[in-house]
Amino acid sequence: MGKFIPVADYRRVTSPPQGDDALLASLAAEPANGEPRDRRGRAMHDLRISVTDRCNFRCTYCMPRDVFGDDYPFLPHGDLLTFEEITRVARLFVARGVRKLRLTGGEPLLRRNIERLVEMLAGLGDVDLTLTTNGAALAAKARGLAAAGLDRVTVSLDSLDDRTFRAMNDADFPVARVLEGIDAAAAAGLAPVKINMVVQRGVNESSIVPMARHFRGSGHIVRFIEFMDVGATNGWRMDDVVAAADIVRRIDAEFPLATMEPNYTGEVAERWRYRDGGGEIGVIASVTQAFCRDCTRARLSTDGKLYTCLFGTHGFDLRRLLRGGGDDDLIARAIGAVWRQRDDRYSELRTRDTKRLPKVEMSYIGG
Ligand code: SAM
Repeated sequence: MGKFIPVADYRRVTSPPQGDDALLASLAAEPANGEPRDRRGRAMHDLRISVTDRCNFRCTYCMPRDVFGDDYPFLPHGDLLTFEEITRVARLFVARGVRKLRLTGGEPLLRRNIERLVEMLAGLGDVDLTLTTNGAALAAKARGLAAAGLDRVTVSLDSLDDRTFRAMNDADFPVARVLEGIDAAAAAGLAPVKINMVVQRGVNESSIVPMARHFRGSGHIVRFIEFMDVGATNGWRMDDVVAAADIVRRIDAEFPLATMEPNYTGEVAERWRYRDGGGEIGVIASVTQAFCRDCTRARLSTDGKLYTCLFGTHGFDLRRLLRGGGDDDLIARAIGAVWRQRDDRYSELRTRDTKRLPKVEMSYIGG
C-alpha cells in the first residue's frame, strides 16, 4: 500500500471564519432553547468530545506512524478547550437536547486529570457519560474514573493475537495489558464494557471468531466495526472492508446468532445475541449499511470546533465565541443554528469519488 500524505492540514484551512460569521449574523432569529431538528428531521442526542488529538498508539488505520511521527504538529496546549470550557459548552448542549456525552480523542486517558473533567461533566445531571479508550491506562485509572462519575467505557481491541495486535497498534503494546484494563473497568462498575474491534481484510479478519469466543459469557459486548474511510491518511480502499453481514455469517457458523431489537433509535450497532444465552455482540455497518438517517451525533473537536458529521470538513468555531466573550445565550443559539442547518449524510452518498474529498482526521474530531 502506498504512503498517503494529507494534502493539507484541514484543521486550519477548512474553517473559514466567513462561513461562521454568516451563521452568527443569522442568530437573532434563532431560539436559545428547545431541542433543534436538522434539515432531515434528526434530533441532537449525542455529543462526542475529543479531549486530545494525541495518542500513545499508532494504529496503522487511524494514526499511521509515517504521518503522525515525531515531527507531527499536534495542537499546542493553549489551543485545547479547557475543562471549564468543555463543561460550559456541554451544559449548553444538554440544555438543547443532548442525552449522552462521550469523551474520546486521540487517547482521552492521556489528558492530564481527566478524572476532574469526568467529575465536572457528571455534575451536569441526567446524562449518560461514557469514554472510549485504547485501554492502555485503564487498569490504573478505572476506579478513579468510576468514582468521578463515569458510567461506562468502550475499549478498542483489534485482535487477541499478540503479534497481530502489536503490529496494528504499532506501539508494541501487548493484548494482556488491555485485557487487564477491561477487567479493571468491569470490577469498577463501568459496565457493560463494550469492546470495539475494527475489522480489516487480510489484517485481523482471522481474529473475528476468536474474539467472539473469548468474550462470550463475560457480560462484555464486542462490537465489530467495518473499516471506514475516515481522514486522509489511512489509505482506505473498499476492498479492505469486511462487510458486517460477512462478519455475522462467520460468527453465526460457530455460535448461532439471533437478531435483537435496538436499544433506541439511532443506535449505531446492529445487535445480535447468542442463541444459547452467551450474551450479545454488535456490528457497526457504517460502510455497507449506512445509518445516516438516524444519526443524532454532534462532535466537538479538541480545539472547540463543532462538527455535525464524522466526515465533515468544516467545523463551526465555538472556541472563538467561548474566548471572545460570547454569553451562554449566544452560544446556545449558535449550537441550535449549526444543528438546524445540518444536512450531512456522507455515508449514504459514499462513492468511489468520495475517497478524494478532504476529510479531517478521527484523532482530531473524536472517534
Ligand atoms: N484512543 C481511543 C481508542 O483507541 O478507542 C479513542 C479514539 S479512537 C479514534 C476511537 C475508535 O475509532 C476506536 O475504536 C478505533 O478503532 C476507531 N477507528 C479509528 N479509525 C477507524 C476507521 N478508519 N474505521 C473504523 N473505526 C476506526
